[in-house]
Amino acid sequence: MRVVLNPDACAGYAYCARFAPALFTVTDGLAALRPGLTELPPDLLAGAEAAAESCPMDAIDVLT
Ligand code: SF4
Repeated sequence: MRVVLNPDACAGYAYCARFAPALFTVTDGLAALRPGLTELPPDLLAGAEAAAESCPMDAIDVLT
């Protein structure tokens, strides 16, 4: 499983960091994945899916 963030689509709403703070940071209006998350740990899947669903810009994909 992987989570993919498209920074070009991000508009800085920060819902991702609110729903999945272990996965995302938002700095100066731009989201980023926390380092070292090439594979999504199973215990973070629900948060990743909530972040993807909440993102108004569809900037997050969860690949299973
Ligand atoms: S919720 Fe979407 S638009 Fe908002 S900061 Fe996160 S990735 Fe960017």
